[in-house]
Amino acid sequence: MMFLITQGENMVVIGAAEARHCPRCDEERDFVPQLQYKYAGVDLFFGMTYSKRYQLACPECNHGWILDPKAIEPGLERNPIPFRMRYGLFLLVVSLFGLYFAGQAYQAAG
Ligand SMILES: [Zn+2]
Repeated sequence: MMFLITQGENMVVIGAAEARHCPRCDEERDFVPQLQYKYAGVDLFFGMTYSKRYQLACPECNHGWILDPKAIEPGLERNPIPFRMRYGLFLLVVSLFGLYFAGQAYQAAG
């Protein structure tokens, strides 16, 4: 069996933009609340996320504020991170155990 290890960074918009004054542009900008996270995975199927960060970012210069996850997460309709990214490693372990026991059962039957 061969696995392809991947890793990367993803950004999801988690709400409506809100107008704020950007100190770097010195202008009113539509700041977008976003969740940025890094992920590592096997075959793009089994993955895990780390270094989650909620932020409000200026669309022009990327200047922004870090948001408190405790304030953000209860307001989200659903977790913005795909299911397989959150529980992928768990699924991988479970399926490896499944394969192992299937192999055992096969040998016992043969
Ligand atoms: Zn700006």
